[in-house]
Amino acid sequence: MFSKLLVANRAEIALRIIRSARELGLKTVAIYSEPDKDSLHALLADEKICIGPAKSSESYLNIPNIMSAAEITKADAIHPGYGFLAENPRFPEICEAEGIAFVGPPASIMRLMGNKSKARQEMQKAKLPVIPGSNKIVEDIVEAKKIAQKISYPVIFKAVAGGGGRGMRVVRSPSLLEEQFSIAQNEANAAFGDSSLYLEKYLPKAHHIEVQVIGDKKGNVIAFVERECSIQRKYQKLLEETPSPFIDEKFRRKIVKAVQEAANSIRYQSLGTFEFLVDDKKKFYFMEANTRVQVEHPITEMIYGIDLIKEQIKIAAGNKLSFSSDQKTRGHSIECRINAEDAETFIPSPGKIEFLALPGGEGIRVDTAVYAGWEIRAEYDSLVAKIVAAASSREDAIKKMYTALEMTTIVGIKTNIPLHLSLLSNSEFVRGDYDIQFMEKFLQKK
Ligand code: ADP
Repeated sequence: MFSKLLVANRAEIALRIIRSARELGLKTVAIYSEPDKDSLHALLADEKICIGPAKSSESYLNIPNIMSAAEITKADAIHPGYGFLAENPRFPEICEAEGIAFVGPPASIMRLMGNKSKARQEMQKAKLPVIPGSNKIVEDIVEAKKIAQKISYPVIFKAVAGGGGRGMRVVRSPSLLEEQFSIAQNEANAAFGDSSLYLEKYLPKAHHIEVQVIGDKKGNVIAFVERECSIQRKYQKLLEETPSPFIDEKFRRKIVKAVQEAANSIRYQSLGTFEFLVDDKKKFYFMEANTRVQVEHPITEMIYGIDLIKEQIKIAAGNKLSFSSDQKTRGHSIECRINAEDAETFIPSPGKIEFLALPGGEGIRVDTAVYAGWEIRAEYDSLVAKIVAAASSREDAIKKMYTALEMTTIVGIKTNIPLHLSLLSNSEFVRGDYDIQFMEKFLQKK
């Protein structure tokens, strides 16, 4: 096992990783940017080291500074969390060259999955169905027109380097194709420095269903019960639950088995998530894979009673997976992402938290790194807390979450808690009757 883990991230995920590392008996090192000096992840680690100013490109994305911090503190492993450097294959390569273990998949897997168009091709080989579309980058508008005609409208342009919903454009008719092509290219270029796009059939009444996998270095891979992530706004997940109310046992077994086989075929290592769209006829299509821990991983932990991060650290140290694929689940779990934003207008609401009362009790988990007096800064993610509820049934998990949110008080900033409360009391949501377009209609009706 390692002796000291450097966590190359900030806020709730950094703190969450520090917690698991300490339970494993590891010493922990936090890195922080200048304004994060008094952040909880820095205060609670065994050691902390400043790696630069507020701007992420000069701190949390600054590989030379992070490697120096690891060297100075003699850390023998690095965990990247999610976001920042988590899916940059250069990071594990540099760690390897420096003799520091990287708690994540090898660079080769990141490269395979990092380019969404290449990942589609690879997963087709692994027998996962993909959404009809271009099998490679769309070079120009002439080619785009041809493919769109073949797969029929509506279609969606997606950035090959995509993430966070950026560089995606839905096109409903041929007359709009050219304009949307150039908008998507510009967006992709601005967000990722790569304007390459591919094209897919747009599936309007679909569900976003994802399957968590974990693999060790000995070739053992297991896939977990699906997470339902169709409650989204602007392609960003807002609330996730597991299991999905839309999926029956037979379909569950089919998709989980398909993912397990696909992940096995590429000898997937570490934590990862395979994302799918599932249409109203219950056909599933591979969308992309994320080669890192997901924001919503706690709901899987809640129904399995396991700690995915601990397991990820152990397998990075060479251990064999400590559980098998027939692990049983218990009940239902829901996560609400509490963001610093106006619940009506979605305008970001950075600022100082003046008073904070977080929920608790049986079946409630709160992943956060905020405290009264802490300032949510505009330059970082607006995620304030992840509130997770688990109960023996979906109905009880919804009630538990509703009560937990009613008992949450955050003064000083606006949050989207009122939006979550109205969602949790919406009859269609309560029936489990929703798809990826649900939120758009829900927000229009409000
Ligand atoms: P990103 O990596 O930018 O988050 P994803 O490929 O994961 O992008 O897609 C994010 C969301 O966009 C999906 O959950 C879904 O709501 C929507 N989406 C993506 N592709 C399609 C498609 N072909 N048809 C309909 N919706 C889509």
